[in-house]
Amino acid sequence: MTASTPNLPQPTITIVGYGSQGRAHALNLRESGFDVTVGLRPGGPTEAKAKADGFLVKSPAEAVKDADLVAVLTPDMVQKTLYYDVLAPNMKQGAVLLFAHGLNVHFGLIEPREDLDVVLVAPKGPGALVRREYEIGRGVPCIYAVYQDRSGKAEQFALSYAAGLGGARANLIKTTFKEETETDLFGEQAVLCGGASSLVQAGFETLVEAGYQPEIAYYEVLHELKLIVDLFYEGGITRMLEFISETAQYGDYVSGPRVIDAATKARMKDILTDIQDGTFTKNWVAEYEAGLPNYKKFKQADMEHPIEVVGKQLRSKMVWLAENAPKPTSQQAAAA
Ligand code: NAD
Ligand code: MG
Repeated sequence: MTASTPNLPQPTITIVGYGSQGRAHALNLRESGFDVTVGLRPGGPTEAKAKADGFLVKSPAEAVKDADLVAVLTPDMVQKTLYYDVLAPNMKQGAVLLFAHGLNVHFGLIEPREDLDVVLVAPKGPGALVRREYEIGRGVPCIYAVYQDRSGKAEQFALSYAAGLGGARANLIKTTFKEETETDLFGEQAVLCGGASSLVQAGFETLVEAGYQPEIAYYEVLHELKLIVDLFYEGGITRMLEFISETAQYGDYVSGPRVIDAATKARMKDILTDIQDGTFTKNWVAEYEAGLPNYKKFKQADMEHPIEVVGKQLRSKMVWLAENAPKPTSQQAAAA
Protein backbone atom coordinates (compact mmCIF):
# COMPACT_ATOMS: atom_id res chain seq x y z
CA MET A 1 0.00 0.00 0.00
CA THR A 2 1.18 3.53 -0.70
CA ALA A 3 -0.41 6.95 -0.75
CA SER A 4 -1.82 6.09 -4.11
CA THR A 5 -3.64 3.04 -2.75
CA PRO A 6 -7.18 3.26 -4.09
CA ASN A 7 -9.88 4.25 -1.60
CA LEU A 8 -7.48 5.55 1.04
CA PRO A 9 -7.49 9.33 1.62
CA GLN A 10 -4.37 11.36 0.81
CA PRO A 11 -4.33 14.16 3.38
CA THR A 12 -1.80 16.98 3.36
CA ILE A 13 0.33 16.27 6.43
CA THR A 14 2.11 18.46 8.98
CA ILE A 15 4.57 16.71 11.25
CA VAL A 16 5.25 18.59 14.50
CA GLY A 17 8.61 17.50 15.94
CA TYR A 18 11.59 16.17 14.02
CA GLY A 19 13.28 13.77 16.43
CA SER A 20 13.43 9.98 16.41
CA GLN A 21 9.93 9.36 15.05
CA GLY A 22 9.32 12.74 13.37
CA ARG A 23 12.19 12.54 10.93
CA ALA A 24 11.44 8.93 9.96
CA HIS A 25 7.74 9.64 9.45
CA ALA A 26 8.36 12.79 7.41
CA LEU A 27 10.87 11.12 5.06
CA ASN A 28 8.88 7.91 4.59
CA LEU A 29 5.57 9.73 4.00
CA ARG A 30 7.14 12.11 1.48
CA GLU A 31 8.63 9.19 -0.45
CA SER A 32 5.23 7.48 -0.37
CA GLY A 33 3.80 10.48 -2.21
CA PHE A 34 2.32 12.64 0.56
CA ASP A 35 2.65 16.41 0.74
CA VAL A 36 4.56 16.87 4.04
CA THR A 37 5.34 20.09 5.96
CA VAL A 38 7.33 20.15 9.21
CA GLY A 39 6.35 22.31 12.19
CA LEU A 40 9.18 23.26 14.57
CA ARG A 41 10.02 26.05 16.96
CA PRO A 42 12.23 28.56 15.11
CA GLY A 43 15.84 28.03 16.18
CA GLY A 44 14.98 24.73 17.88
CA PRO A 45 17.50 21.89 17.93
CA THR A 46 16.20 19.95 14.90
CA GLU A 47 15.19 22.79 12.57
CA ALA A 48 18.45 22.69 10.61
CA LYS A 49 18.13 18.94 10.13
CA ALA A 50 14.61 19.17 8.70
CA LYS A 51 15.70 21.95 6.31
CA ALA A 52 18.77 19.98 5.25
CA ASP A 53 16.44 17.08 4.41
CA GLY A 54 14.58 19.44 2.07
CA PHE A 55 11.41 20.07 4.06
CA LEU A 56 9.43 23.24 4.21
CA VAL A 57 9.74 24.19 7.90
CA LYS A 58 7.31 26.58 9.57
CA SER A 59 6.50 27.46 13.16
CA PRO A 60 4.07 24.88 14.58
CA ALA A 61 1.22 27.46 14.60
CA GLU A 62 1.74 28.32 10.92
CA ALA A 63 2.43 24.77 9.83
CA VAL A 64 -0.80 23.26 11.18
CA LYS A 65 -3.19 25.90 9.75
CA ASP A 66 -3.76 24.32 6.36
CA ALA A 67 -2.98 20.69 7.16
CA ASP A 68 -5.59 17.98 6.69
CA LEU A 69 -3.67 15.84 9.19
CA VAL A 70 -1.36 16.92 12.03
CA ALA A 71 1.00 14.33 13.51
CA VAL A 72 2.17 15.20 17.03
CA LEU A 73 5.70 13.80 17.28
CA THR A 74 7.18 15.88 20.07
CA PRO A 75 8.14 14.34 23.43
CA ASP A 76 5.01 13.20 25.29
CA MET A 77 5.45 15.66 28.15
CA VAL A 78 5.30 18.76 25.93
CA GLN A 79 2.22 17.64 23.99
CA LYS A 80 -0.40 19.00 26.41
CA THR A 81 0.92 22.59 26.30
CA LEU A 82 1.58 22.29 22.57
CA TYR A 83 -1.98 21.13 21.97
CA TYR A 84 -3.73 23.82 24.03
CA ASP A 85 -1.43 26.73 23.10
CA VAL A 86 -0.75 25.98 19.45
CA LEU A 87 -2.71 23.13 17.88
CA ALA A 88 -6.24 23.65 19.20
CA PRO A 89 -6.37 27.37 18.28
CA ASN A 90 -4.86 26.85 14.80
CA MET A 91 -5.91 23.50 13.33
CA LYS A 92 -8.61 23.73 10.71
CA GLN A 93 -12.13 22.44 11.34
CA GLY A 94 -12.53 18.72 10.78
CA ALA A 95 -8.80 17.98 10.50
CA VAL A 96 -7.15 14.78 11.76
CA LEU A 97 -5.02 14.83 14.92
CA LEU A 98 -2.58 11.90 14.99
CA PHE A 99 -0.37 10.59 17.80
CA ALA A 100 2.37 7.95 17.86
CA HIS A 101 1.66 7.12 21.50
CA GLY A 102 -1.69 7.40 23.27
CA LEU A 103 -0.57 8.59 26.70
CA ASN A 104 -1.84 12.18 26.63
CA VAL A 105 -5.25 11.33 25.23
CA HIS A 106 -5.80 8.11 27.17
CA PHE A 107 -4.96 9.68 30.54
CA GLY A 108 -6.98 12.82 29.80
CA LEU A 109 -4.10 15.31 29.66
CA ILE A 110 -5.43 16.32 26.25
CA GLU A 111 -9.17 16.46 25.55
CA PRO A 112 -9.25 17.04 21.80
CA ARG A 113 -11.63 19.46 20.09
CA GLU A 114 -15.00 17.92 19.22
CA ASP A 115 -14.68 18.50 15.47
CA LEU A 116 -11.38 16.64 15.02
CA ASP A 117 -10.75 13.05 14.05
CA VAL A 118 -8.27 11.67 16.59
CA VAL A 119 -6.15 8.64 15.68
CA LEU A 120 -3.02 6.78 16.67
CA VAL A 121 -0.35 5.16 14.52
CA ALA A 122 2.45 3.67 16.60
CA PRO A 123 5.33 1.91 14.86
CA LYS A 124 6.66 -0.92 17.00
CA GLY A 125 10.27 0.22 16.74
CA PRO A 126 12.49 3.26 17.17
CA GLY A 127 12.51 5.95 14.47
CA ALA A 128 15.87 4.98 13.01
CA LEU A 129 14.52 1.50 12.30
CA VAL A 130 11.27 2.89 10.83
CA ARG A 131 13.44 4.77 8.35
CA ARG A 132 16.02 2.06 7.66
CA GLU A 133 13.43 -0.65 7.02
CA TYR A 134 11.49 1.62 4.65
CA GLU A 135 14.65 2.44 2.68
CA ILE A 136 15.41 -1.23 2.07
CA GLY A 137 11.85 -1.94 0.97
CA ARG A 138 10.59 -3.39 4.23
CA GLY A 139 8.60 -1.92 7.11
CA VAL A 140 8.16 -1.87 10.88
CA PRO A 141 4.82 -3.28 12.11
CA CYS A 142 2.42 -0.52 13.18
CA ILE A 143 -0.55 -0.56 15.48
CA TYR A 144 -3.34 1.94 14.91
CA ALA A 145 -6.44 3.14 16.73
CA VAL A 146 -9.31 5.58 16.49
CA TYR A 147 -10.30 7.70 19.50
CA GLN A 148 -12.71 10.08 17.81
CA ASP A 149 -14.28 9.71 14.37
CA ARG A 150 -16.06 12.85 13.17
CA SER A 151 -15.50 12.45 9.44
CA GLY A 152 -16.55 8.80 9.30
CA LYS A 153 -13.13 8.17 7.71
CA ALA A 154 -10.83 8.31 10.75
CA GLU A 155 -9.76 4.70 10.37
CA GLN A 156 -8.96 5.23 6.68
CA PHE A 157 -6.76 8.20 7.60
CA ALA A 158 -4.86 6.08 10.12
CA LEU A 159 -4.44 3.25 7.59
CA SER A 160 -3.27 5.63 4.89
CA TYR A 161 -0.65 7.15 7.23
CA ALA A 162 0.51 3.72 8.48
CA ALA A 163 0.83 2.48 4.90
CA GLY A 164 2.84 5.60 4.00
CA LEU A 165 5.26 4.79 6.82
CA GLY A 166 5.84 1.36 5.32
CA GLY A 167 4.03 -0.38 8.16
CA ALA A 168 1.67 -2.23 5.83
CA ARG A 169 4.65 -4.08 4.33
CA ALA A 170 5.16 -5.68 7.74
CA ASN A 171 1.83 -5.79 9.58
CA LEU A 172 -0.93 -3.42 10.74
CA ILE A 173 -2.95 -4.31 13.82
CA LYS A 174 -5.97 -2.42 15.06
CA THR A 175 -5.90 -1.49 18.74
CA THR A 176 -7.31 1.11 21.13
CA PHE A 177 -5.63 4.11 22.74
CA LYS A 178 -5.93 2.26 26.07
CA GLU A 179 -4.28 -0.93 24.85
CA GLU A 180 -1.47 0.84 23.00
CA THR A 181 -0.68 3.16 25.89
CA GLU A 182 -0.71 0.54 28.62
CA THR A 183 1.16 -2.19 26.71
CA ASP A 184 3.76 0.27 25.39
CA LEU A 185 4.49 1.62 28.86
CA PHE A 186 4.60 -1.88 30.33
CA GLY A 187 6.89 -3.22 27.61
CA GLU A 188 9.43 -0.43 27.93
CA GLN A 189 9.41 -0.51 31.73
CA ALA A 190 9.32 -4.19 32.59
CA VAL A 191 11.07 -5.84 29.65
CA LEU A 192 12.64 -3.73 26.90
CA CYS A 193 14.32 -0.81 28.64
CA GLY A 194 13.96 -1.18 32.40
CA GLY A 195 13.99 -4.95 32.66
CA ALA A 196 16.73 -5.61 30.11
CA SER A 197 19.15 -2.93 31.31
CA SER A 198 18.72 -3.90 34.96
CA LEU A 199 19.26 -7.58 34.10
CA VAL A 200 22.47 -6.75 32.24
CA GLN A 201 23.79 -4.46 34.99
CA ALA A 202 23.05 -7.02 37.73
CA GLY A 203 24.74 -9.81 35.75
CA PHE A 204 27.81 -7.63 35.13
CA GLU A 205 28.04 -6.61 38.80
CA THR A 206 27.74 -10.23 39.94
CA LEU A 207 30.69 -11.33 37.79
CA VAL A 208 32.91 -8.32 38.55
CA GLU A 209 32.23 -8.49 42.31
CA ALA A 210 33.28 -12.16 42.16
CA GLY A 211 36.67 -11.06 40.78
CA TYR A 212 36.27 -11.71 37.04
CA GLN A 213 37.65 -9.26 34.46
CA PRO A 214 35.16 -6.51 33.54
CA GLU A 215 36.00 -6.93 29.84
CA ILE A 216 34.98 -10.58 29.90
CA ALA A 217 31.88 -9.77 31.96
CA TYR A 218 30.88 -7.14 29.36
CA TYR A 219 31.14 -9.53 26.42
CA GLU A 220 29.30 -12.20 28.37
CA VAL A 221 26.24 -10.26 29.54
CA LEU A 222 25.88 -7.33 27.14
CA HIS A 223 27.60 -7.95 23.81
CA GLU A 224 26.35 -11.51 23.38
CA LEU A 225 22.81 -10.45 24.21
CA LYS A 226 22.48 -9.12 20.65
CA LEU A 227 23.14 -12.51 19.16
CA ILE A 228 20.47 -14.05 21.37
CA VAL A 229 17.93 -11.31 20.66
CA ASP A 230 18.53 -11.69 16.92
CA LEU A 231 17.57 -15.36 17.25
CA PHE A 232 14.44 -14.43 19.24
CA TYR A 233 13.53 -11.99 16.46
CA GLU A 234 14.05 -14.52 13.68
CA GLY A 235 12.36 -17.54 15.22
CA GLY A 236 11.37 -17.02 18.83
CA ILE A 237 12.83 -18.86 21.80
CA THR A 238 12.63 -22.10 19.76
CA ARG A 239 15.28 -20.75 17.37
CA MET A 240 17.59 -19.78 20.23
CA LEU A 241 17.28 -23.29 21.64
CA GLU A 242 18.29 -24.72 18.24
CA PHE A 243 21.50 -22.71 18.24
CA ILE A 244 22.80 -22.97 21.79
CA SER A 245 24.59 -25.97 23.28
CA GLU A 246 22.88 -28.65 25.33
CA THR A 247 24.77 -27.35 28.35
CA ALA A 248 23.44 -23.83 27.75
CA GLN A 249 19.94 -25.22 27.35
CA TYR A 250 20.09 -27.19 30.62
CA GLY A 251 21.42 -24.08 32.40
CA ASP A 252 18.61 -22.03 30.87
CA TYR A 253 15.95 -24.45 32.15
CA VAL A 254 17.23 -24.72 35.70
CA SER A 255 18.55 -21.19 36.30
CA GLY A 256 16.26 -18.90 34.25
CA PRO A 257 13.38 -19.44 36.69
CA ARG A 258 15.72 -18.69 39.64
CA VAL A 259 16.36 -15.20 38.19
CA ILE A 260 12.82 -14.44 37.02
CA ASP A 261 10.49 -16.15 39.48
CA ALA A 262 6.92 -15.77 40.72
CA ALA A 263 7.94 -12.80 42.87
CA THR A 264 9.35 -11.02 39.78
CA LYS A 265 6.11 -11.64 37.95
CA ALA A 266 4.12 -10.33 40.92
CA ARG A 267 6.19 -7.14 40.75
CA MET A 268 5.53 -6.93 37.01
CA LYS A 269 1.82 -7.06 37.83
CA ASP A 270 2.30 -4.19 40.30
CA ILE A 271 4.03 -2.19 37.56
CA LEU A 272 1.12 -2.88 35.23
CA THR A 273 -1.39 -1.81 37.89
CA ASP A 274 0.47 1.49 38.40
CA ILE A 275 0.32 2.04 34.64
CA GLN A 276 -3.36 1.15 34.33
CA ASP A 277 -4.62 3.25 37.25
CA GLY A 278 -2.66 6.32 36.14
CA THR A 279 -0.17 6.32 39.06
CA PHE A 280 2.82 6.08 36.72
CA THR A 281 1.63 8.92 34.51
CA LYS A 282 0.76 11.13 37.50
CA ASN A 283 4.27 10.61 38.91
CA TRP A 284 5.92 11.19 35.52
CA VAL A 285 4.02 14.45 34.97
CA ALA A 286 4.98 15.64 38.51
CA GLU A 287 8.63 14.68 37.88
CA TYR A 288 8.62 16.53 34.56
CA GLU A 289 7.02 19.64 36.06
CA ALA A 290 9.55 19.65 38.92
CA GLY A 291 12.39 19.91 36.37
CA LEU A 292 13.29 16.18 36.22
CA PRO A 293 15.36 15.97 39.47
CA ASN A 294 15.15 12.17 39.85
CA TYR A 295 15.23 11.48 36.11
CA LYS A 296 18.55 13.35 35.86
CA LYS A 297 20.00 11.49 38.86
CA PHE A 298 18.96 8.08 37.53
CA LYS A 299 20.28 8.87 34.08
CA GLN A 300 23.64 10.03 35.48
CA ALA A 301 23.94 6.83 37.53
CA ASP A 302 23.24 4.67 34.45
CA MET A 303 25.78 6.59 32.38
CA GLU A 304 28.46 6.26 35.10
CA HIS A 305 27.90 2.55 35.73
CA PRO A 306 31.19 0.60 35.36
CA ILE A 307 29.74 -1.37 32.45
CA GLU A 308 29.58 1.87 30.46
CA VAL A 309 33.26 2.60 31.12
CA VAL A 310 34.49 -0.78 29.96
CA GLY A 311 31.92 -0.90 27.15
CA LYS A 312 33.18 2.35 25.68
CA GLN A 313 36.74 1.00 25.51
CA LEU A 314 35.70 -2.30 23.97
CA ARG A 315 33.34 -0.79 21.41
CA SER A 316 36.10 1.55 20.19
CA LYS A 317 37.68 -1.60 18.68
CA MET A 318 34.47 -2.37 16.75
CA VAL A 319 35.07 0.03 13.88
CA TRP A 320 31.86 -0.91 12.09
CA LEU A 321 29.71 0.49 14.89
CA ALA A 322 30.38 4.16 14.20
CA GLU A 323 29.24 3.88 10.58
CA ASN A 324 25.86 2.31 11.27
CA ALA A 325 24.86 3.93 14.52
CA PRO A 326 21.71 6.07 14.34
CA LYS A 327 22.13 9.51 15.90
CA PRO A 328 19.86 9.89 18.93
CA THR A 329 18.23 13.21 19.68
CA SER A 330 18.85 14.89 23.01
CA GLN A 331 15.31 14.39 24.24
CA GLN A 332 14.94 10.82 23.01
CA ALA A 333 15.73 9.24 26.35
CA ALA A 334 12.39 10.37 27.72
CA ALA A 335 10.35 8.40 25.25
CA ALA A 336 11.35 4.95 24.14
P1 NAD B 1 12.23 13.04 20.23
O1 NAD B 1 12.59 13.48 21.59
O2 NAD B 1 13.18 12.17 19.49
O3 NAD B 1 11.93 14.30 19.29
C1 NAD B 1 11.17 15.36 19.71
C2 NAD B 1 11.09 16.45 18.63
O4 NAD B 1 10.13 17.43 19.08
C3 NAD B 1 12.37 17.22 18.38
O5 NAD B 1 12.40 17.60 17.02
C4 NAD B 1 12.20 18.46 19.26
O6 NAD B 1 12.98 19.54 18.81
C5 NAD B 1 10.72 18.73 19.05
N1 NAD B 1 10.08 19.52 20.11
C6 NAD B 1 10.29 19.46 21.44
N2 NAD B 1 9.48 20.33 22.07
C7 NAD B 1 8.71 20.93 21.10
C8 NAD B 1 7.68 21.91 21.10
N3 NAD B 1 7.27 22.44 22.25
N4 NAD B 1 7.14 22.29 19.91
C9 NAD B 1 7.54 21.74 18.74
N5 NAD B 1 8.51 20.80 18.68
C10 NAD B 1 9.09 20.41 19.84
O7 NAD B 1 10.78 12.32 20.35
P2 NAD B 1 10.38 10.82 19.90
O8 NAD B 1 11.14 9.81 20.71
O9 NAD B 1 10.41 10.74 18.42
O10 NAD B 1 8.87 10.75 20.41
C11 NAD B 1 7.82 11.37 19.70
C12 NAD B 1 6.54 10.62 19.95
O11 NAD B 1 6.65 9.30 19.39
C13 NAD B 1 6.20 10.39 21.42
O12 NAD B 1 4.80 10.45 21.56
C14 NAD B 1 6.69 8.97 21.69
O13 NAD B 1 6.03 8.34 22.77
C15 NAD B 1 6.35 8.32 20.37
N6 NAD B 1 7.11 7.10 20.04
C16 NAD B 1 8.45 7.11 20.13
C17 NAD B 1 9.18 5.97 19.79
C18 NAD B 1 10.69 5.98 19.81
O14 NAD B 1 11.26 4.96 19.49
N7 NAD B 1 11.41 7.04 20.15
C19 NAD B 1 8.50 4.82 19.35
C20 NAD B 1 7.10 4.86 19.21
C21 NAD B 1 6.41 6.02 19.56
MG1 MG C 1 6.95 4.22 24.52
